[in-house]
Parts: sequence; structure tokens; C-alpha cells
Amino acid sequence: MKQINVIQIAHKLLEEKLNKNLIIVDATCGNGHDTHFLAPKVKHVHAFDIQQQAISKAKQLNKSYTNITYHHTSHENINVVIPHYDGIIFNLGYLPGGDKHITTNYISTLRTLTAIHDRHNGFVLIVAYPGHIEGFIEQVAIQSFLDKNNIAYEVLKLPHITKKEAPIIYYYTY
Ligand code: SAM
Repeated sequence: MKQINVIQIAHKLLEEKLNKNLIIVDATCGNGHDTHFLAPKVKHVHAFDIQQQAISKAKQLNKSYTNITYHHTSHENINVVIPHYDGIIFNLGYLPGGDKHITTNYISTLRTLTAIHDRHNGFVLIVAYPGHIEGFIEQVAIQSFLDKNNIAYEVLKLPHITKKEAPIIYYYTY
């Protein structure tokens, strides 16, 4: 059976919502694949990551695009450094091929989701990975946050292919 790729599904979901007028934030740019998907479809991408290794990889992958600004800082600073955005995507977890101990965590992720919520604009797409313990705690925290704040979200749960908890996509718009 061909493995279902959660990122392909997330990109498919986003495709119809993107256009050349939009400023989109890639909150966790990692190796730059999501930024690579976004850059040709939108006006500008702001790509965040706390790891220099990730920023360098993302820059290398996307060197042909001139509409990307990189921010080597936590996504908690999105509201501080970006005056306007139309959507934000989070691909949570650790850097593929990097240090698995440097992973997104529920404290900073909730801080950022709260700041975005206070600003009330654009869409939010989150890909969460409950297959590892940090990711599980983060996913539960995100869902509680959304429920507690009465945010109407769409949720896409992939089927279990292995014994591991499958990734989950959350999407909502203000
Ligand atoms: N979107 C990436 C891609 O297309 O290759 C994959 C992202 S990877 C699963 C998660 C990334 O989040 C890692 O590179 C990690 O350094 C980054 N990260 C962890 N905590 C962060 C934070 N507070 N702010 C920004 N990036 C963070």
C-alpha cells in the first residue's frame, strides 16, 4: 500500500486558498519544503525557524525565489516582526535529518496560537505529530486550546498505517 503523505494532503488543502496577493508565514520552515510549495503561489513568504541549520537548508532549497524573508527566531515573535499576514502554517515536530531533541513544544506553540488568536486575522493550518511523546502532548494541548476558545476548526485525521498515532491536520480561519 502506498503510504499517505500528510504534507501532500496539507498542501492540497491549502492550494485552493492561496493566491498571489497573500502574505503567508511558514512558522517552522525546517528544510524549506513548505516554503518551497508556498513561494511560487503567493506574494510573500515569511519563514521562521529557531535552528540556523534549518534556515540554511531552506535558503539553499529556495534560492531561486526572491519573495521569501527568513527569520532565525521563534514563531512566538511572528506578531512582533510581521505587520500583516494572511495565513500561517505550522509543520510541528523536529527537523528531518536534524537533532530530534530540538522539537516544537506545547508551551511555545500555545503562546504563538494565543498571539495569533488575539490578532484574529487570516487562516491557520497545523500539522501535528502525536506519534512521539512531545508531539502527543502538543497535539492534545492544541486541541484543548481550540476547543476552549470555541474556534471552529476542521480536523483531518489520517488512518493508522502503523501502530504509531497518525499525524493530524487542523485548519481554521478568522
Ligand atoms: N516545514 C518543514 C519542511 O518543509 O521541511 C519541516 C518542519 S520540522 C517538522 C519542524 C521545525 O520546527 C524544525 O526545523 C525546528 O527547528 C522548528 N522549530 C521548533 N521550535 C520552533 C519555534 N519555537 N519557532 C520556530 N521554529 C521552531
